[in-house]
This record gives sequence, C-alpha cells and structure tokens, in this order.
Amino acid sequence: MTRSETLFEQAKQTIPGGVNSPVRAFNGVGGTPRFIEKADGAYIYDADGNKYIDYVGSWGPMILGHNHPKIRQAVLDAVENGLSFGAPTELEVTMAEKVIEMVPSMEMVRMVSSGTEATMSAIRLARGFTGRDKILKFEGCYHGHADCLLVKAGSGALTLGQPSSPGIPEDFAKHTLTAVYNDLDSVKAMFEQYPDSISCIILEPVAGNMNCIPPVAGFLEGLRALCDEFGALLIIDEVMTGFRVSKSGAQGHYGIKPDLTTLGKVIGGGMPVGAFGGRKDVMQFIAPTGPVYQAGTLSGNPIAMSAGLAQMEALCEEGLYEELAAKTKRIAEGFKAAADKHGIPMSINYVGGMFGFFFTDEPQVTLFEQVTKCNMEHFRAFYHGMLDEGVYLAPSAYEAGFLSMAHGEEELQATLAAADRVLARIAA
Ligand code: PLP
Repeated sequence: MTRSETLFEQAKQTIPGGVNSPVRAFNGVGGTPRFIEKADGAYIYDADGNKYIDYVGSWGPMILGHNHPKIRQAVLDAVENGLSFGAPTELEVTMAEKVIEMVPSMEMVRMVSSGTEATMSAIRLARGFTGRDKILKFEGCYHGHADCLLVKAGSGALTLGQPSSPGIPEDFAKHTLTAVYNDLDSVKAMFEQYPDSISCIILEPVAGNMNCIPPVAGFLEGLRALCDEFGALLIIDEVMTGFRVSKSGAQGHYGIKPDLTTLGKVIGGGMPVGAFGGRKDVMQFIAPTGPVYQAGTLSGNPIAMSAGLAQMEALCEEGLYEELAAKTKRIAEGFKAAADKHGIPMSINYVGGMFGFFFTDEPQVTLFEQVTKCNMEHFRAFYHGMLDEGVYLAPSAYEAGFLSMAHGEEELQATLAAADRVLARIAA
C-alpha cells in the first residue's frame, strides 16, 4: 500500500469519507486521493514522495504559485504580533481600500472567513434590503453550502450526483428559484411568474463549478437589465473569478456592474478569507449601521489579511494578467490540439486564469446540460493518466482548472507532452 492509501484508510475511521471537503475524496474519478505533504511554486508533493504539476491551486487561491516568498514572509511577520484580536486593525482598513481600488463596483466591503459566508451574508443582505424572500440562482452554479444556495448546485454536489442536499427544509428551498445558465428566457420566465418577490439574482460570472462555462454574449447585460426592471439586486459571485479572470474580476473583464459582489479564494492568499461588498446604500444596511445582522469572531483576522494583502499587491504588477491568460490559453489549446491529433472529441473553454476541457463532440459548450452529457469514461482515463504522468488536475469533470504565475515554460511543456501521451493511449 502507498502511504496515501494507508492514510486514506486511517482517515476514513475518524473523518467522514476521509476528507474535510467532499470533492477531495476522488469520488468522481475513483482511486485514492493523494495526501499532500508540501507545495512549492507550480508543484505539490504527496506523502509518497511524488511530485505533481498542480492545476488545482488549492481550488483557486494559489494564483502566484504555492509558498510564494512574499506571502510567506507577510504571514511570518504578522504572526510575530499575535494571531487574533477580535478588535479592529489598520490591516482591515488597508484591505478594504485595496479591494475597492481593484473592484470599483464595491464601494464598501465586509470581510468574512470563507466564500460560503460571503454568499450567505450577501443573500441575507439582499433579502433584508429589498424586503423580498425569493432568490434566483442557476442550475450547476455553486455558491458554497448555505441552505438556500444548495439547491441544484454544482461542484462537489454534482460530483456526488446529488445536486440538492437532504437536510434543507422544503420551506427554505421553495424560496430558491433556479434558471438555466446562459438562457435569458428562463430568467425572464421566473420574473414574469414572481415579479414582486425576487430579491436578487446570484450567479457565477464564469461558471466554474460545472467545468468552465463563460457567459454567452448579452447574458450578463440581460440579467442586469432584468434586475433593474424588477427591482432585484444583481449579486456577482466572484469567489472563483475574482482576481483570477482579470485584476478587477469577471465584472471588469465583461464590463458589468453588480449591486453586490462576493469574493473568496485569491483574496486570502491561501488563508481562510471571503468578502462581500457593493453599493454603499446596500452595504450600510448591515449591522452595526443597519438592521441586517452579520458577524464573525475571526473576520478580518490579521494573519489572513496579511497573506491576502501581500497577494493582492503582487497581483497589481504590470502585465501579470496578460501573462496568466496566455499560459492558460496554451494549456487549453494544447489539450485540444492533442485530442484532435488522436481523434478524441474535445471542446475547450478558457478565460483569464481558468480553463475547462470537455470530452464531447459539441464544438462549443455553453450549457450545463451539455456538460452532463460529456464522456465520463474519457475524463476518468485522462485524469488518472495525467496523475500517473505527474500532472494534478481537479478530480471531477465539473471543476475548472487553474493556472498560476509559477507555471513556467518547463511545466507547460511537460503538461502538454503528458497530455499527448495520455490521449494517445486512450485512443489506442
Ligand atoms: N462561490 C463560488 C463561485 C465557489 O466556487 C465557492 C467554492 O468553491 C464558494 C462560493 C464557496 O467558497 P468556500 O468553499 O470558501 O466556502
């Protein structure tokens, strides 16, 4: 048995499924999850001494690569001053100003400790502000695991084939309406049915929890117009896309202005951080200025703020996002070229630092329904083939891939050469 296999067996005795977050369990691809010992740059290292080029990046945060010296140093410096105070700090002010500078639609911001908290709080705020109960989300989009958002969700919930979770009372779920991503008519139909009771639309501006699906032309603009027409707030969940698709997130990339934005992953530099923010009049509706309650013992934690700030500052370097997008394009186009060469049907999507590949003969994947029809056998074979070759991809066909600035020429070439060999074997 490998050390990962031994640890996984041991873990299953004390941790449900052996993991602290379901998609880590490899249920979507079979086999044993690799237990990771350390990570550096573009690489992660498992408990058996294997080294992998990493395209998961801790599910998004590690955009500069693992163990980045500036972030590590910021954390070490912050630790010297104590771990948590439960009182305001200058760091939080600096962080708020940095976020607002980078994402101008956010006029005020509140820090939390995870993406789930960010979306849960933004939804409560939207409901409190509008005085309406219903929310509208899209099938296959994942916004964390708050009750109202775990209805027809993507990511791990999809991987388990369980898009809506037991444990959510029907009385709660009935307030969550779902529409079809990239289909404006399905959204219009909901507003026509419930013109006065939808508080907000929440969406992933590039859907990254049903593989990687960018918005079709006019979709985001159409949502903005419907929200304005019916008095609902538009919440853009940039937990994944924030500071990844561009310096100002997907909203900057596509030129769309939400009422509220949620952030996570990259904003914490690898520490547990989330944030939500937006229009001043809406944000002032939160306690202590407003009546909607929201709080957190560790919110704005100084270690997390230091890590996040160091990362955000480094991300402001000129030309960084162009370089990240070029690397991402090379990987996605390279996978597609190798698949074409070996006669395996594949479609790809990529935006900024995120990409997706689909084993399908559909030339363009824009709908969740198309993702569910992809060839899962090919995905599993490709996944395990790449893992054996030392390339660590997300262990689910419903997840996006992530590049980092630490992925250099050597890693890109090695990844594409591995993909060529693996696809040749699948075709044989
Ligand atoms: N929103 C989106 C778009 C996400 O991708 C995720 C997590 O993957 C979340 C929210 C939840 O964030 P967290 O896992 O930090 O609670």
